[in-house]
Amino acid sequence: MNATRTQAGVDWAVLALDLGGTQVRAAVVRGDGTVVTRRSSRTPVEGGGEAIVQACLDALGACRDAHDAAGGSTLLVGIGIAAPGPVDPIRGRVIDPPNLGSSFHDIPLAERALASLGLPAFLDRDTQVAALGEGAFGAARGCADYLYLTVSTGIGGAIVSGGNLLRGPDGTAGELGHLLVDRHGPPCGCGAVGHLEAIASGSAIARAARRKIDAGESEPLARLALERGPAFGAREVAEAETAGDPVAASIMADAREAFARACVGLVDVFNPALIVVGGALAAGQGDRWLDPARATVAREAFTVPGRRARIVPAALGADVGLAGAAVLVAERLDLEIVPPRARPGGPGRPGER
Ligand SMILES: [Zn+2]
Repeated sequence: MNATRTQAGVDWAVLALDLGGTQVRAAVVRGDGTVVTRRSSRTPVEGGGEAIVQACLDALGACRDAHDAAGGSTLLVGIGIAAPGPVDPIRGRVIDPPNLGSSFHDIPLAERALASLGLPAFLDRDTQVAALGEGAFGAARGCADYLYLTVSTGIGGAIVSGGNLLRGPDGTAGELGHLLVDRHGPPCGCGAVGHLEAIASGSAIARAARRKIDAGESEPLARLALERGPAFGAREVAEAETAGDPVAASIMADAREAFARACVGLVDVFNPALIVVGGALAAGQGDRWLDPARATVAREAFTVPGRRARIVPAALGADVGLAGAAVLVAERLDLEIVPPRARPGGPGRPGER
């Protein structure tokens, strides 16, 4: 991203915020991606939009105070915010994310953070920020052309081409979960039909399992649903597959196949060197999820990009949004990212195994 050092000799850090449907997480993150101070709280969705904004500002303020009290030499240069889409990254607004309640609508979160903390604040969609994090500190380090996919309750994505995040004129580009994979497929949460997210996401797998249970087709799934109650989801379906239930196995196979076919299209369209796959569902499945995608790409993608593309697990885990927030700020303020390994004796990269 052509960043240059503008504050030679000064170690910098950012206030990072990862706003999610269940948790508000804030941290001080250094320019090498190290997460220093953390604060987190439950997202007060029932309290409405203003309560959520206040929880964000409180978490950021607590991190700033902890940073100041520690009296270090690190300079706080800005605030980076990862928020659920859709967002307007140009104006720093969160538009109307499905999991934050109806009163959380068109919220100028970056402006509120600037007003409250007196630091320049930048905001982008959580998956865009995650892609920046994996690119600077994680699985896509040193790679200029990669795609990021997160597979959990939903499926999100981001496209990095020639070292730059593809945003589009409105900042909405990269919604890879909403690629069509089956035009006769189930309805998607976005209102369209047969999207990747409607077949291969955690919520889609859970919905497919419920349909089979209602039709009386799987006794093991019905038992698990009864046992786990509202917690019943993709993890239970995967568990039933492992235990040998053929119905669960077929639901999981459909999800893996949809994901694999989407990867073929992505390889043919974008010629990525890497497809980095994060998210709880993919992480839990590991190679069981990635191997069919690798095999299908090898078999069905164009030869040259198919040979090039490697499909790899994400490296930063739950901290990806926080680490990525540092990269977002660096990108906007034209600061140099300091990869941990470039520093003699520096810490290992976050999430490294
Ligand atoms: Zn969709």
